[in-house]
Amino acid sequence: MTITRFAPSPTGYLHIGGLRTALYNYLWAKKNDGEFKLRIEDTDKKRHNETALSAIFDAFDWVGMKHDGKIEFQSQRTKIYQKYINQLLKDGKAYKCYKTKDQLAKDREEAIQNKQTFKYDETWRPEVDKCLPQIPQDVKPVVRIKSPKTGQIIVRDGIKGDVKFEANEVDDFIIARDDGEPTYNFVVAIDDALMGISDVLRGDDHLSNTPKQIVIYDALGFDIPNFYHMPMINNQNGKKLSKRDGALDVLDYKTQGYLPEAILNFLVRLGWSYGDQEIFSIDEMIQLFDPKDINSSSSSFNQDKLLWLNSFYIKNSDTKRLTNILKELGEDITNFKNKDPLIDLCKQRVNTTIELQQLIKDIINKPKSYDQKGVNKFIKNDTDDMLNSFIDMLTQNKNNINSSQDIQDITKLFIEKHGLKFPQLFQPIRLSLTGKTTAPAVYDIVWVLGIDETICRIKTAISKGFKTT
Ligand code: GLU
Repeated sequence: MTITRFAPSPTGYLHIGGLRTALYNYLWAKKNDGEFKLRIEDTDKKRHNETALSAIFDAFDWVGMKHDGKIEFQSQRTKIYQKYINQLLKDGKAYKCYKTKDQLAKDREEAIQNKQTFKYDETWRPEVDKCLPQIPQDVKPVVRIKSPKTGQIIVRDGIKGDVKFEANEVDDFIIARDDGEPTYNFVVAIDDALMGISDVLRGDDHLSNTPKQIVIYDALGFDIPNFYHMPMINNQNGKKLSKRDGALDVLDYKTQGYLPEAILNFLVRLGWSYGDQEIFSIDEMIQLFDPKDINSSSSSFNQDKLLWLNSFYIKNSDTKRLTNILKELGEDITNFKNKDPLIDLCKQRVNTTIELQQLIKDIINKPKSYDQKGVNKFIKNDTDDMLNSFIDMLTQNKNNINSSQDIQDITKLFIEKHGLKFPQLFQPIRLSLTGKTTAPAVYDIVWVLGIDETICRIKTAISKGFKTT
């Protein structure tokens, strides 16, 4: 069975790159009818943060990604790690090292001076016929793994191919500190093995950890999972993605008016492709995703594309869903009479739900002010007369108006009859109805507001002389 996992360290909020890793693992598990597990790597107590942890759960909830089974917390697995450390010691595959931190610092200093890479000198590594030094009384030992000294450690990577590390480049690294705390690579390997993880998809910043994890797998006789180390996400200039480039915490995207399916669609394409298809529903992603199609070069974050996807998903959302989102944003249009045409009209013109909210506000609320630039340009001495005739025309036709098309037809006749140019009529009406000149088509706004409200707003604008009071 394919079992994948997402293993965040809750030291910061869930970053968009982290969500991509989670998504790829999720898709691969679901595609194979497998399981997607969640493991919280919270052993670093100093940097561990409860708020960050709940932000991870909230982000998963928001995008609708569900993990399978129980969540594993590394902080609750100490006994398990201890058991394997003892087993490795007992089997002679790990050993206690009494070299002090000061001695190690000196060795490191010397290596730097000799322009060599620092490597533990194996003083305490037991070998046949080797006499170990006298155990010092006042030093608490660390536990080191006996790493192979010859040959190669090969990471068989599904994206990068075989990545070979010389075994002598991996020293006898520490698996338990002098206070008994197990170290990072040790616990990751133990957890992945015990959780039955078959496929590990993660950022290629972890590639250098993998040979160490393989050493642990081998020492304990565990099966090595399939590894896929994914290239990182860069900004448009090929540099590491930062907040300035739009690399926000996942929940910030929610606040900024993005829909979760736009985020997931954006992320799935960020480093993976299926021909030149751009739009993927979650079901399609599950059906089509294969980590072997992950690009081997890094991808770049394109904010415009994200906006484009978001506008696509907003346009394709129905009134009910958008009404709910607007309600969450504090804009309750549940009781607005012409909700459907209002939403249909506005969703075509926005890139985010925040823009949708603003546009809807501009239409459903009576204008508090009139854009003075527009007023100076479009309100002339004879505008009031024209608007009054327009009001008369609407009043006369009121009972025959059944669609925005009807309004369009009678308005065109009105324009012809009075020998007007379109902006001459439309801009004063837009200003009267919304206070702005940039609103959607006049017929549509009139239809959405209804004839009575339209007339009322035009009358108010005339009586105020299009002045903001
Ligand atoms: N906890 C690690 C991180 O947040 C991931 C470990 C892994 O995927 O092996 O980067």
